[in-house]
Amino acid sequence: MTDRRRYTRIQRALLQWYAANARDLPWRRTRDPYAIWLSEIMLQQTRVPTAIPYYERFLKRFSTAAHLARARLDTILKLWEGLGYYSRARNLHQAAKEIVSRCHGRLPQTKDELLTLPGIGRYTAGAIASIAFGERTPLVDGNVERVLCRVFRIHGNPKNAAIKERLWKLAEDLLPEHEVGHFNQSLMELGSEICTPRNPRCDECPLANLCEANHHNEQDILPTRTAKKPLPSHVVVVGVIYRAGRILIDKRKPKGLLGGLWEFPGGKVQPGESLESALHREIREELDIEIEVGSEIAVVDHTYTHFHVEIHAFECKHLKGEPRPLACAALKWVRPSDLPRHAFPAANKKIIEILRVRRRH
Ligand code: SF4
Repeated sequence: MTDRRRYTRIQRALLQWYAANARDLPWRRTRDPYAIWLSEIMLQQTRVPTAIPYYERFLKRFSTAAHLARARLDTILKLWEGLGYYSRARNLHQAAKEIVSRCHGRLPQTKDELLTLPGIGRYTAGAIASIAFGERTPLVDGNVERVLCRVFRIHGNPKNAAIKERLWKLAEDLLPEHEVGHFNQSLMELGSEICTPRNPRCDECPLANLCEANHHNEQDILPTRTAKKPLPSHVVVVGVIYRAGRILIDKRKPKGLLGGLWEFPGGKVQPGESLESALHREIREELDIEIEVGSEIAVVDHTYTHFHVEIHAFECKHLKGEPRPLACAALKWVRPSDLPRHAFPAANKKIIEILRVRRRH
């Protein structure tokens, strides 16, 4: 069979299957480019069931790019709280401002223009351009990568630059003349629902007869996996510092991990340091104040993409000095009941929940 014929058969099989089996997802019920953009940003690194309530809340609160551009970053981060990868929210806000200032509030319609906005890379630009505007442009995400590696029996690490380019070229060659948005979504849907990382359901797959991995029984070894390095682990200590019934919180600097979120002050414990002395040191270095360290109120484990943390939280009393934001963007004394009004990272939220339960008892 020629490549062209095979590609045509793949297109037909996938489009037919997608027409009958596509999940009914909220962002598939709209052609609004803004809503599709929002969904694509939320779906980066996040599973569909987790993203749906965030998408619905976000769209209800900010129905256009202009609304989003006018919002305060704090408000956006609070709505994003729990979804993780907060640089997505910051980029979304920045991109909304650029859409208003450069594009009269309308999302750019081509992949190349979309790529000029913050937070929009090759995949996201391809997804928005093809799904919202019908541009004949490909996309490759983790699901598509897996499907293509199996259907075309591509061995080798798909993160390798040459293989990556081969996959993008294949995704482009496979595009049909029409229904490009549906076709791109069908590839992703197949990877998500049928051609799953483990135990793909080849018996139910529309590409079973066209898939080389299936013919050679290589579904389990494709795509080629690389051994993951163990994540580094850090011990962190934080203070829940009280003064006159209020708690001191600090806002992280806008850039970098968890940028713009609020947290309890503290930092990494150095080798050979006790938790208490590390906390005294961190609070002096970051805030220039003295505290009395009381009892330990929580130990929280949390895993980020590149490392793992074990956070020890201590109840502390402010002794002297007016806190200064030496290593953060802002500081605030808040009533314990006001903590939930601020956007905190997941690990800090666990501490807040423990504080809430303690207050009730
Ligand atoms: S036949 Fe199996 S391995 Fe091939 S694309 Fe379908 S589910 Fe994936």
